[in-house]
Amino acid sequence: MNLISPLEKVKGVGAKTGEQFALAGLHTVGELIDFLPRAHEDFSEVVAIADIHPGKMTIKARCEKIETRPVRRGLRITTATLADDSGKLQAVWFNQPYRETQLKSGEEFYFSGEFEFNYNKYQLTNPSAEKVSDMPVQTDRLLPVYRAIKGLKSQVVRKILSELRPLITMLPETLPAEIVKNEKLLSRADAVLGMHFPKTSEDIARGRERLAFEELFQLLLASQLNRQENAKLTGWHIPFEQTIVADFVKLLPFDLTGAQRRAAWDIIQDFERKTPMNRLLQGDVGSGKTVVAGLAARQAAHSGFQTALMAPTEILASQHAETLATLLTPFGVTVGLLTGSVKGTARKTLYEQIYNGSVDVVVGTHALIQDMVKFHKLGFVVIDEQHRFGVKQRQQLLGKSKHMPHLLAMTATPIPRSLALTVYGELDVSILDELPKGRLPIKTKIWSPNSQAQLYELVDAELKQGRQCYVICSLIDENADNEIKSVTAEYKKLQNSIFKHRRIGLLHGKLKSEEKDAVMTQFAKNELDILVSTTVVEVGVDVPNATVMLIEDADRFGLSQLHQLRGRVGRSTHQSYCYLITSGSSKPSPRLKEIEKSNDGFYLAEVDLKMRGPGEIYGRAQHGALNLQIATLSDTKLIARAQKEAKLFVSRGDDLLQYKQLAGQVEQYQRLTTLN
Ligand code: ADP
Ligand code: MG
Repeated sequence: MNLISPLEKVKGVGAKTGEQFALAGLHTVGELIDFLPRAHEDFSEVVAIADIHPGKMTIKARCEKIETRPVRRGLRITTATLADDSGKLQAVWFNQPYRETQLKSGEEFYFSGEFEFNYNKYQLTNPSAEKVSDMPVQTDRLLPVYRAIKGLKSQVVRKILSELRPLITMLPETLPAEIVKNEKLLSRADAVLGMHFPKTSEDIARGRERLAFEELFQLLLASQLNRQENAKLTGWHIPFEQTIVADFVKLLPFDLTGAQRRAAWDIIQDFERKTPMNRLLQGDVGSGKTVVAGLAARQAAHSGFQTALMAPTEILASQHAETLATLLTPFGVTVGLLTGSVKGTARKTLYEQIYNGSVDVVVGTHALIQDMVKFHKLGFVVIDEQHRFGVKQRQQLLGKSKHMPHLLAMTATPIPRSLALTVYGELDVSILDELPKGRLPIKTKIWSPNSQAQLYELVDAELKQGRQCYVICSLIDENADNEIKSVTAEYKKLQNSIFKHRRIGLLHGKLKSEEKDAVMTQFAKNELDILVSTTVVEVGVDVPNATVMLIEDADRFGLSQLHQLRGRVGRSTHQSYCYLITSGSSKPSPRLKEIEKSNDGFYLAEVDLKMRGPGEIYGRAQHGALNLQIATLSDTKLIARAQKEAKLFVSRGDDLLQYKQLAGQVEQYQRLTTLN
């Protein structure tokens, strides 16, 4: 038997079991060995029920009584009475009705969960349950817990893995020996062994360290190699023309900030080099990224190159097209807009203009990457809100040029340092860390729905001053079973009672794009006082006169998302306000408290990364594909170590191909993390 043997070859795996494994994506012996536990339960400290106290607790008990009742739609509560020789206690599970069947046998189980005050009494909440008789002898204390595989008990998975133990002890090393030695890491075999069959918590910690290091090393090496490969490409040479840039700047209605000047200069210099630019423009919401892109597009157009700017929503694309047209038409630079709603002859004409080069700057949504779109001479690609796009989409757009075009990826979601190092390690970064002059920090307040009437008075006072207001709800339609607010219901409510005397607009994703555009344009022109909207306005939308943002059921949004939404106000010299309205009588979450406290996107992104993992920041799709099993991108120390080793590896000029497994992984990461 070896690592590529089918699982059916292993003792104890019949056709049925094999099928269940296969459904979970596990086919071979090697794949099962790599199926690492998602956690370990520590049964070393079993307490008697009489001695239990609040916190994470494990007891050894029998289930005396158990029942499940539906509480409301989508929530079923199972409660049980658990008993040992010293006493009894209550346990509760949410939406785990199968506990009834599992526990009815009356056998002894280890229950492990949080003992906490819940529903007015102390209870063991959502405990795991392991049959005492199922517990393998050698792991009396530390039990690996595997991701559930349908139809297979954890116990079975553990048993089959113990059959594979001899193979695990012989697992080949995948990292260069030098690195294992330098970093004092466990061998791969010992690490995997420690994860599946830990004797001490040290085994787990060391195993994790080694395996997490390996993942990070692969990721960092991938970005080093991407950087190297990019340096070998030949791009377009776009020479710097001082008068062109100076004239552009002169015509702006404001002075550029120092940060905008520096970023623009970075780009202009990259344009002059032989290798294509691969730059991330990071700037907090409202820091003024668009005009930087506009300046660069002006320079590119002067040298006869086209610019493509891709934005994630139609609203945003049309807004950018308008902004850029204002900035660029005075210089004879033409701007076109390509979205799904440009149809028929208009679309055909636009295709032709893009192809014959009579349009210099093409702004659009995903529509830009369709095959029909052919450029005359594409030299510069801008991706706005880049984390909204996948690698493939970026590449498709870049592929529309004979040479690799210069790439500017813009993001308003600041990327924490750890992530910048790993996933974006290959990039050059410009940071807009300065807001335009005269901006006042947004005043943010958590607000209880009980005093909403007062809040509406505050809003009306702002409207009286001629300002505008956003009201954000998470749902589109009313739902009788549900207390969550919807835009349709809020819109009706506000228009029919409280704000009868005000002009109110409704915006959500189900509207046709012409309708969306019409509403957005009305709001931008100050023909509406209040815009009731879903998160479709989350990214990029720029209406400087809007100064109040109400977010209903604010707890339903992530931290970065709240920061983005809030960024729709505070875009002028007027004082702006953001009110985070909690749901019902629930207490505000730590998230809301963080956002109430800080206006700093960088700080909030760090907090978000800690609270929720990097998915939100890096883009869900891509992060999912990275599929880090062990490593967390918030482990900055380990990242720094892996970074150092990856750089050494590249500088030694080691041949990656001698490490076959490593090479395969690295190549995959290269494809997933590159921007171009
Ligand atoms: P973001 O970085 O969030 O994409 P935008 O590019 O939408 O920001 O710019 C936000 C607003 O600030 C716009 O209305 C823009 O015209 C304005 N703006 C940009 N740069 C400056 C500046 N240097 N001074 C004053 N206003 C500016
Ligand atoms: Mg923007």
